[in-house]
Amino acid sequence: MSDNFNYWSLVLDTLRTKVSASNFQSWFSPLQFENVTNEGRKVVLVAPSEFHRNYLTKKFSKILQESINKYYPKVIHIEYKIQESNGREKIQEFLDLADTSSTQEEPTVIDAYLPAKNLSNLNTKYTFENFVVTRNYEFVYQVALGVVNEPGTLYSPLFIHSPVGLGKTHLLQAIGHTFLEKDPAKNIKYIPSETLFNQYYHALSKKEVDKFREYYADVDLLLIDDIQFIGGKNAFQEIFFHLFNTLHQANKQIIITSDKSPKDLIGVAERLVSRFESGLVTDIPRPDLEDRITILKDKAKRLKLSLSNEVFQFLAERITNNVRELEGALNKIRALIIQDPIRDISVDLVKRMFKDQPQNFTIEVSISPDKINQVVSKVLNIKPEQLLSSNRDKNTALARQIGFYLYKTELNLSFPHIGKLFGGRDHSTVMHGYRKVKELIEQNNPEVVNQVQLAKQLLNS
Ligand code: ADP
Ligand code: MG
Repeated sequence: MSDNFNYWSLVLDTLRTKVSASNFQSWFSPLQFENVTNEGRKVVLVAPSEFHRNYLTKKFSKILQESINKYYPKVIHIEYKIQESNGREKIQEFLDLADTSSTQEEPTVIDAYLPAKNLSNLNTKYTFENFVVTRNYEFVYQVALGVVNEPGTLYSPLFIHSPVGLGKTHLLQAIGHTFLEKDPAKNIKYIPSETLFNQYYHALSKKEVDKFREYYADVDLLLIDDIQFIGGKNAFQEIFFHLFNTLHQANKQIIITSDKSPKDLIGVAERLVSRFESGLVTDIPRPDLEDRITILKDKAKRLKLSLSNEVFQFLAERITNNVRELEGALNKIRALIIQDPIRDISVDLVKRMFKDQPQNFTIEVSISPDKINQVVSKVLNIKPEQLLSSNRDKNTALARQIGFYLYKTELNLSFPHIGKLFGGRDHSTVMHGYRKVKELIEQNNPEVVNQVQLAKQLLNS
């Protein structure tokens, strides 16, 4: 392999750990790696649009540069090409970019918060062609095909939920691609709910909520990823509710993904939850051993990795959590082969890899009291020991109560047991704290909803 070997997927893995999932999805996933030139000093990337490039260079250039340098230490320059028009995604003009030429330094991208109409935001990486339909995906796959054939009528909305890394985003975008293949004139939008919220927020600050609403009311297929992030954002939920109804009444297809089922969403208005439940709700079961082997084999083939059955078996037994981690393991193995192309990938070698770098494989995400303490302290910005102390300042007290809440909901421990773990507190104190947090969440208290949501996210990552 030459210097030009594509380490891009490893760069992406690094980036994934540095930015939020939705930022990753919106800004980094769509980038394509072209090559490294100028004796390793320049990397050429393809961005889907100028807007994309501008935003990326404005917001993330440092992180991107650092992540690239991890694998391409000599790179000092990043060049962007803009994706060629392929009939579907033309080089875009953005709604608000009409009069940009005069103000060069002014970050015009800030105004272009709604992408061009013909821009679906779909990532070409996520198609049905490379989606492996193992047993656990059969149901959701059939449902997806059903929706493609009878949009807006069969299952509307379609609500797909699962823990991370099981292919929701992939599937959602694959549906989008198939839709467009059938009818390229269709107006399709893929959007993580966090990005949708940001657009709304931007529209609000510019007093253009109508424009935002009209923009989405015109969509034929709306693909909303990771809906859980709308929790606690009440004004936005209001707008979204109306948008949902508008689209639904016009028989437009809506597909939503989430990390939990509608009724487990935190801080989401009841009427939205019942809308989400009004079509078809399905989860994605985790792949079993056989499924995982099939997925590994398929992915290895695409990566041109030839591995023994023993290695596949070993990996599939060890990595049980999700497909992303299976991919991560194969990428690591690929990196080993790049370093030493003639190396034989034996089970022993792979075992050693696990031993040396267990954190890269995070075999099981197991939630423990200790992990909850760490996460809660992080989210509320206190030291973990404060949680167990007798300190009564407001923030610490809230942190402790959120801790009680998570011990209950995530670990299902009894109140007396939780009290013991919290330095011998009385069970009634624990119960009171737990109820208080629960109530605040039910009342959509934005601060607490965000804190709990963030903590849960961290716990599961
Ligand atoms: P989620 O959105 O549920 O967190 P993703 O769609 O991001 O999961 O999937 C994580 C990674 O695993 C992606 O790279 C995706 O392509 C891959 N993946 C997940 N499920 C499958 C599958 N059934 N076939 C092929 N790749 C998959
Ligand atoms: Mg996803």
